[in-house]
Amino acid sequence: MEVYLAILLQGVITLTGKHRFETKTIHDGYESKSHHNSLASPIYQTSTFTFETAEAGERRFAGEEPGYIYSRLGNPTVRMLEERIASLENAEAGLAFGSGMAAVSAVLLNLVKTGDHILCSEGVYGCTFGLLKMLEEKFSVEHDLLPLDSVEQLQKAIRPNTKVIYIETPINPTLKLIDLEMVSTVAKEKGIKVVVDNTFSTPYLQRPLEFGCDIVLHSATKYISSHGDVVAGLVVGEQETISSIAKSTQKDIGGILSPFDAWLLLRGLKTLPIRMDRHSSNARQIMKKLAEHPAITNVMYPGMEESSSYAIAQKQMKSSGGLISFEIAGEKKDSQAFMNRLNMIKIAVSLGDAETLIQHPATMTHAVVPEEERLRMGISETLIRLSVGLEAWEDIWEDILQALEN
Ligand code: PLP
Repeated sequence: MEVYLAILLQGVITLTGKHRFETKTIHDGYESKSHHNSLASPIYQTSTFTFETAEAGERRFAGEEPGYIYSRLGNPTVRMLEERIASLENAEAGLAFGSGMAAVSAVLLNLVKTGDHILCSEGVYGCTFGLLKMLEEKFSVEHDLLPLDSVEQLQKAIRPNTKVIYIETPINPTLKLIDLEMVSTVAKEKGIKVVVDNTFSTPYLQRPLEFGCDIVLHSATKYISSHGDVVAGLVVGEQETISSIAKSTQKDIGGILSPFDAWLLLRGLKTLPIRMDRHSSNARQIMKKLAEHPAITNVMYPGMEESSSYAIAQKQMKSSGGLISFEIAGEKKDSQAFMNRLNMIKIAVSLGDAETLIQHPATMTHAVVPEEERLRMGISETLIRLSVGLEAWEDIWEDILQALEN
């Protein structure tokens, strides 16, 4: 216990709480004076840290002396990233993981035990769904997937053994929103923790802790990295919760982030605000064009005034982000043929990169979800998810148009 408190408390506290978000993405978590005035943060590419003496090692393990011990328990470059994301989400503390799923599993395994129940938004990333199934089959942790769109429905769904409400908003891939304030108000009355996967929004567009939620996590592989070259996860919350995850499911399962990947994410974060503004404005243009095209039967984007999520988007998001889902008239083969005709836009199951990416959720990201469940989540065979990149929106649209019309 002492070791982990020492690790979490060590290092220079560099948070510049007085600054605005755009400034914090560049400066927080890094103090150049402590690193030979190097403008770019150094990469501490080391597995372990040496002790001056055996007694110093003993003191460090006992938590009597601050300092790093071993990179699975903490690393200075990784710590810079953890401080920066905590600052951006307005959280007390943060932790970095080797993938988004390492973050999701470390959080859920920390919060639940056999016999507990998880209430989940109806629609989550396919592997999160797979993890919920595994928790049920192997450890008897039950779950229900529900729309979570009214206080009455939420109150009815909460059981005496409900320990966690797990939310994606926007939901992947239908982009429906959940009212964070409504859910956290009901959860607080019952002492239930609310966990939010904030991957699609990033803290620039949405900060769930400010609406009363308890833990926020990210697949940092996406917008936080933005360059398609890292797989990573991040978690933020209260110090007590984060310390508990650090000393249990992170330390003992060990899904940590490498120092080099942490450095790439620190670099990516510096441009997060300008990138998210561009992703959002590009997506708005493409959304409008798609909505006008006769071959498109349904466009899903929370920033569309016709969307059932529009009012929630206005309340809790700065703008609606870079993801659009849509359905094409016809069958699965028509959606696949459309994707195959694209030239610049790449077929790939990630999102948030500079490049525009497209995927077919029913056969790709959500292929593990049984058909009945998938249809209940709103994922039809013709549904396509587009991650609008940073290219000129006119070039993105011209590629889509030629693929629709050829
Ligand atoms: N959460 C969401 C919303 C995702 O889209 C993904 C991956 O696509 C994950 C979590 C898992 O993240 P990773 O692939 O970094 O493990």
